[in-house]
Amino acid sequence: MSQSKINIQNGSCPVYKKCGGCQLQNLSYAEQLRFKQNKVVKLLKSFGRVEPIIGMDDPYHYRNKVQAAFFTDRRGRIRSGVYQSGTHRIVSVDDCQIEDRLADKIIVAVRRLLPSFHLTTYNEDTHKGFLRHVLVKRGFATNEVMLVLVTGTPVFPSKSHFVKAIVEEFPQIKTIVQNINPYNTNLVLGDRQTVLYGKGYIEDVLCGCRFRISPKSFYQINPVQTEVLYGKAIEFAGLKGSKTVLDAYCGIGTIGIVAAKHGAGQVIGVELNGEAVRDAIQNAKANGLKNIRFYKGDAGAFMQAVAAVNERLDVVLMDPPRAGSSEQFLDALIKLSPKTVVYVSCNPETLARDLQYLRQKSRYKVQKIQPVDMFPHTAHVESVVLLTHT
Ligand code: SAH
Repeated sequence: MSQSKINIQNGSCPVYKKCGGCQLQNLSYAEQLRFKQNKVVKLLKSFGRVEPIIGMDDPYHYRNKVQAAFFTDRRGRIRSGVYQSGTHRIVSVDDCQIEDRLADKIIVAVRRLLPSFHLTTYNEDTHKGFLRHVLVKRGFATNEVMLVLVTGTPVFPSKSHFVKAIVEEFPQIKTIVQNINPYNTNLVLGDRQTVLYGKGYIEDVLCGCRFRISPKSFYQINPVQTEVLYGKAIEFAGLKGSKTVLDAYCGIGTIGIVAAKHGAGQVIGVELNGEAVRDAIQNAKANGLKNIRFYKGDAGAFMQAVAAVNERLDVVLMDPPRAGSSEQFLDALIKLSPKTVVYVSCNPETLARDLQYLRQKSRYKVQKIQPVDMFPHTAHVESVVLLTHT
């Protein structure tokens, strides 16, 4: 594997300890992969053989989504950076080794521009001031950039001049959104949004399909490895013959749309986030697909409803958040009993818990376990698992 050729300087990031985002920076990339492989093996070995983890050739600057918190320090200087893991303290970061370089440059430019437009940063204690966070998303395949300015107040003095200045400097910026977050919250984004420039979304291309990405909808943050991950999921799904596929926890419909392009007969997607579902519907249209439907709702409740009418499903692709799936979902899955289940997981602990539940309550057997390194330098590890029943 080519990753063994790479000899990185361990812990070369100057804020490695302070930031805490890259828990494995002290290990070489080859060691990181061994660490992750061992973690998955330890948790999942009782279910079957774990394939060797698929790493990246170039495990740097892979993040297509970058967030920075803004504040003014005691000397009156505007600073930006990331929250120290598990705290509310901000560590100044201008160029992070895992974040997209252009996104980082845009964040530094926003910081530089603020004083010239007399714009301030938001103070969480006094609830005064303007800019709280900046969020940048870039489509790696299209080079389209979205800039989201999260502000404590809706009033945006010299709005159009600011927009003009930043777009002139970075023509890759295709849309700018102001998100208003006046709440006392740890969440970055509030619920009110205004489009200041462009269409309010960007597009990217993944596995030959085009996707629309909105400020709030989930989109995999490492597009290079997402193609690897989805490739494995589609391979495991075995889509020959016109199969009915459910894409559960579908986000903006990426996996289901790729499945539809790869021969699935019918695809149904379900997702909790309304903005993501709207994107998913648009994405199906933009890719010329008519055999795909999306529903907004809790995946567990939806599965129960599908099980109640005994609709036939051949393949269930599921990609839940870190908390894993629910017993409600798994019970309905067992009732519906699709021949093939592909479980994409970003948390091997909850994956192990859910597989254990299925082992106890059903005839499903794990056939394949494939870890993929979606988050180099961090301790996170993604896995795709194929289950079938006799
Ligand atoms: N499969 C997509 C998204 C995976 S992330 C992709 O690869 O891009 C997990 C998704 O599950 C998120 O979009 C999140 O909004 C959604 N989600 C979280 N809880 C859910 C629930 N209870 N029911 C349905 N969707 C849920």
